[in-house]
Amino acid sequence: MSYLFTPPPIVSAAVVGETDRFAVRRIFCVGRNYAAHTREMGGDPTRDAPFFFLKPADALVGSGETIAYPSDTANLHYEIELVIAIGQGGRDIPEDQALDHVFGYGVGIDLTRRDRQFEARDKGRPWDLGKAFDQSAPMAALHKAADVGHLGEGRIWLAVNDEIKQEADLSQLIWSAPEIISIISKSWELRTGDLIFTGTPDKVGPIGKGDRVTGGIAGLTDVAVTIAA
Ligand code: MN
Repeated sequence: MSYLFTPPPIVSAAVVGETDRFAVRRIFCVGRNYAAHTREMGGDPTRDAPFFFLKPADALVGSGETIAYPSDTANLHYEIELVIAIGQGGRDIPEDQALDHVFGYGVGIDLTRRDRQFEARDKGRPWDLGKAFDQSAPMAALHKAADVGHLGEGRIWLAVNDEIKQEADLSQLIWSAPEIISIISKSWELRTGDLIFTGTPDKVGPIGKGDRVTGGIAGLTDVAVTIAA
């Protein structure tokens, strides 16, 4: 087969302990998955069901990179998140089998144009301008679940210029990794290469040109990106 234009490169993530890379298919994201963050966004954590949005795979940015301050925003926010990497796909996956579908875990940042997201929310429009922009998904190298186990608890944090901004524990996730995988697989057939950003704790906030953003989860490799000056 030949193509009119050169096909786009395959988006991929580094994997700790492997020279081969993890080819990325889609990036799913969970909204409002920590109670304190749900409240700071104006929601009710006792009532809101999980909801999802997506970023294009090529929004992925490797850790250590410098990225441009995005166009079309005056309120760029960080959101530190646990990322699930799907190894084996499936549909209608039962919760008690969900972890069998996990290849590994990583630390990601769901960069958000908060001004565009709130405009969309208030007007009942899609979130793409707020969430699915270029370079909006920095992520550290993945760790295989076979190496680190399954992460149901552990410290999650984010710092801007070495000052801690977000700090919580994975045990505070409203919807756990098995629940998220099971629920998503009822609406989409999950496939090898899918990533799931699982939602952020509270105390999200703005970042600007020249800021260095770092974050981590106990047991995983830290993520770090710099916003170009
Ligand atoms: Mn998020």
